[in-house]
Amino acid sequence: MPEGDTIFRAAAALHRALAGQVVTGFDTGFAQLARVHDDAPLTGRTVEGCAPAGKHLLIRFSGDLILRTHMRMSGSWHLYRPGEAWQRPGRDMRVRIDTNDWVAVAFTVPVAEFLRARDLARSRALASLGPDLLSPRFDRDEALGRLAAAGTRPIAEVLLDQRVVAGIGNVFKNEILFLSGIHPDRPASTLSDEECGRMLDTAVPLMRSNTGPGSGAEIVTYRGLRRTTRRARPEENLWVYGRAGKPCRRCGHLIQSARRGLDARATYWCPRCQR
Ligand SMILES: [Zn+2]
Repeated sequence: MPEGDTIFRAAAALHRALAGQVVTGFDTGFAQLARVHDDAPLTGRTVEGCAPAGKHLLIRFSGDLILRTHMRMSGSWHLYRPGEAWQRPGRDMRVRIDTNDWVAVAFTVPVAEFLRARDLARSRALASLGPDLLSPRFDRDEALGRLAAAGTRPIAEVLLDQRVVAGIGNVFKNEILFLSGIHPDRPASTLSDEECGRMLDTAVPLMRSNTGPGSGAEIVTYRGLRRTTRRARPEENLWVYGRAGKPCRRCGHLIQSARRGLDARATYWCPRCQR
């Protein structure tokens, strides 16, 4: 699943490219979207802006229409110049928005729907989101409250629960726990307020530092190159994620890994730094 920073970057790149532009063409593989487009065409509307909401990406059009997409594991948004060859096959296209200057394409996005502003306020998917770590209005007290109410589930699982805090994916889950010195298996209910606060205060700057403009504006998806160590070399960019059996960058102990939980996301930790 893309991390919140990926969605944030995608939204920022789409916003830079599309905001203020008039839609000149629209195509989709989703019946619900096609139906709305038939009744009230997207063509001719102006893109008002693109913004992330947790792991959802919202594109607002004039005339009170909002496109919500969720990437889940497989989806991605790309930006191309008109006529430019796509990096994915056309059969993977789910949503395509044309303007004079750009073609924005969502590939294999599993969730997409059109909403009105009033639906957005009621949308269950969005209403249940916890405080968004990447939002400038991040509500730390609310996040602490939700962590305190998360019960006995392991903290590694709780950090991925978007109803507790929104934006953390599997890479950041592991890195945040390492940097906070917290063992991934600890039941959330055993964490002190101080530990929860430390985790959030680690997570916010870490995730925000990964949301700067990408190197290429054309491809708005963003894989790899996520950095939590402040080291320049790409192979040293993470503390524990993906490093099973390698020495801890702090203490030299071997990094452990395990797959736990219903969706079997890999967890990595240093047994000495995270007791
Ligand atoms: Zn260590």
